[in-house]
Amino acid sequence: MPLISTKEMFKKAYEGNYAIGAFNVNNMEIIQGIVEAAMEEKAPLILQVSSGARKYANPVYLRKMVEAAVEVSGLPICLHLDHGDSFELCKSCIDGGFTSVMIDGSSLSYEDNIALTKKVVEYAHDTTNHPYVTVEGELGTLAGIEDEVQHEVGSYTKPEEVIDFVTRTGVDSLAIAIGTSHGAYKFTADQCTRDENGVLVPPPLRFDILEAVSEKLPGFPIVLHGSSSVPQNFVQIINANGGKMPDAVGIPEAQLRKAASMSVCKINIDSDLRLACTAGIRKHFNEHPEHFDPRQYLGDARANIKEIVRHKLVNVLGCAGKADEILGK
Ligand SMILES: [Zn+2]
Repeated sequence: MPLISTKEMFKKAYEGNYAIGAFNVNNMEIIQGIVEAAMEEKAPLILQVSSGARKYANPVYLRKMVEAAVEVSGLPICLHLDHGDSFELCKSCIDGGFTSVMIDGSSLSYEDNIALTKKVVEYAHDTTNHPYVTVEGELGTLAGIEDEVQHEVGSYTKPEEVIDFVTRTGVDSLAIAIGTSHGAYKFTADQCTRDENGVLVPPPLRFDILEAVSEKLPGFPIVLHGSSSVPQNFVQIINANGGKMPDAVGIPEAQLRKAASMSVCKINIDSDLRLACTAGIRKHFNEHPEHFDPRQYLGDARANIKEIVRHKLVNVLGCAGKADEILGK
């Protein structure tokens, strides 16, 4: 079975009120942790690669490892480019076997964003030389840092623009800004309140914007970036084992679950995997200072990634058990 695009995944996710997890991958252990969890939960997957990941791991290694994941798991898996910033990068990924790309023109003017996105869509949808590749566009900008993507302040998506943008570009899905943010420090302390344990509680997502967008685009898949929840158990393990991550805070999972039950069909999760990985390695070294075999500490990192991904598939995304319906079984 080959890699698949997001088309059938999003159709089923929209109808079934769930979302597909889009997990960022950089190395073998991260891919294995995600895929092992998805196999046990029979869940579809989007494995996504940023331009930083391509530079770190080399696109051929990443593609071959994701192809191995398909072969080993038999699951419906999409290989997606996260935050493509140019036509050339998107084209290179499409030519290299990716089944979905994001073109992020959100830092450009509205008209330039449309022109760039449309150019990528025309290439991706032309099946002369490759299978149909789905394209994700973005309107509005998220605050925070993700690899090479950085914005100090975000701006919410304007619902009055979405019909025009989707119609003129032909995109298959749209990332919108409703208050999620990239990174492990999504909000400053003054943007939040604190709960009884002193943990920061971020401002709620703008569900009014999501609802307004969905009303204008019925049946159309929406994407949320910057949607890690920054699990405090991992932050505590990191801090208790020599780390220093004060006040790391993410999006409450109940809000992500609500979004997944609405028109949101893809939820991007990256920072939570990084935290799971780091917590596993820090704890391992603290408990076993004599160890030096990478399989020992990377094995713990992989086990933590599997645990957090399984939790997301079952309790947040709602896509556990959905692999077969996407494969048409
Ligand atoms: Zn993003």
